[in-house]
Amino acid sequence: MTATELVNPATEEALASVELLDAAAVDDAVARAAVAQRRWARLSPWERAEGLRAFAAAVAAHTDELAALEVANSGHPIASAEWEAGHVRDVLTFYAGSPERLSGRQIPVAGGLDVTFNEPLGVVGVITPWNFPMPIASWSIGPALAAGNAVLVKPAELTPLTTIRLGELAVQAGLDADLLQVLPGKGAVVGERLVTHPGVRKVVFTGSTEVGKRVMAGAAAHVKRVTLELGGKSANIVFADCDLERAAATAPAGVFDNAGQDCCARSRILVQRSVYERFMELLEPAVRAVAVGDPASRDTEMGPLVSAEHRARVASYVPDDAPVAFRGTAPPGPGFWFPPTVLTPERTDRSVTEEIFGPVVTVLPFEDEHDAVGLANDTAYGLSGSIWTDELSRALRVSRAIESGNLSVNSHSSVRYHTPFGGFKQSGLGRELGPDAPLHFTETKNVFIAVAEEG
Ligand code: NAP
Repeated sequence: MTATELVNPATEEALASVELLDAAAVDDAVARAAVAQRRWARLSPWERAEGLRAFAAAVAAHTDELAALEVANSGHPIASAEWEAGHVRDVLTFYAGSPERLSGRQIPVAGGLDVTFNEPLGVVGVITPWNFPMPIASWSIGPALAAGNAVLVKPAELTPLTTIRLGELAVQAGLDADLLQVLPGKGAVVGERLVTHPGVRKVVFTGSTEVGKRVMAGAAAHVKRVTLELGGKSANIVFADCDLERAAATAPAGVFDNAGQDCCARSRILVQRSVYERFMELLEPAVRAVAVGDPASRDTEMGPLVSAEHRARVASYVPDDAPVAFRGTAPPGPGFWFPPTVLTPERTDRSVTEEIFGPVVTVLPFEDEHDAVGLANDTAYGLSGSIWTDELSRALRVSRAIESGNLSVNSHSSVRYHTPFGGFKQSGLGRELGPDAPLHFTETKNVFIAVAEEG
């Protein structure tokens, strides 16, 4: 058994050592989960709802502990980490309402009774990225358990601590230890085994588009169900008719939240040329004011990047001759710091076309609505985006024209557990969250019962 040594990204101090599982351990986990799943699926809907409610209560009772752990492992500002733990509680509570509402249909047919059942898939594999470990795990755990499945979660090697703790809290709340198992390990070992194991009936993968393609190909061997939540390069479109002060004041949060390590980051700001100069004047003080520093401080808005390796990757998009318009500040170190950075490159620059996944945003001018939509859609991705305009017709026209799964008008909100979330194009396949999510962890079974004619 090998181990990974974790460091605190804000201090570079040793944090914890986590054992990494091998493929044989995954096989064992799948076998145990299959047994636990059959027991769980036989419980009444009310009992499964009670299990989820108890799990949510355990998470709520440990909010401070989970948040502190995320601050130390991921460098998330404490206020964000607390929100994330609260979000997990809310997701579990929301889906605790699902077992009693998951009903099939009765369909009128000749000669008998026709009914559909939503059968659980069985054992579900969930592979999560390092950027938002807790929320992303909960988006599958909640609806999959609600629908009667067992769940095996492989957290990212860099940030497994809060997910491991969630697994312990589930047991503490009374769930069978084999029903929800957290399997720390390498993507190429534990992740791949979940994808190729015939006993895992569905994989929910959240991560890069590159690995997502491999997951989809691997899953094909057993016609395994997949949901893919992949990369993004979302646009923040600022029309001349909007509240420009508000658009500029909120643009930093739209991209620098979680130090830009956010699949929904509005990392391309597109501004109508007639207000471009004024927008940049307003944006500069807003970017310089972003409070970057100790994630344990309540004044901090942006923490460090997750690792030295990731910081080097982000820095590659800002070479010495990069068209830097202005930058915010960052502590000198130790810690994997990177200042909020605004670039004004050409439309074809790789900083415009590739997902940077760090605190770097590009700003480009556009001419008119047609140009704005063309620029916004000129990407392989289609996850999120914002449209700033005070004209309702334009808001609706542009929303319909942009090839993206989650758009917001005059706001940067992307994720609400009550609404569906997912990507167009190479940002993913399928949807998470929203009221229908438990259905995505079921198979529809149709049963016809012949009814004999009277006499
Ligand atoms: P990643 O490198 O693709 O890794 C994601 C997960 O997949 C990790 O747990 C990783 O394990 C595992 N993995 C790696 N190779 C694998 C393989 N061959 N088979 C199965 N699993 C494998 O992504 P990341 O760097 O962690 O996360 C950043 C990316 O995630 C960005 O592109 C971001 O946009 C995307 N993301 C998307 C969403 C969304 O909802 N659409 C949300 C968050 C993030 P190890 O890390 O342990 O090797």
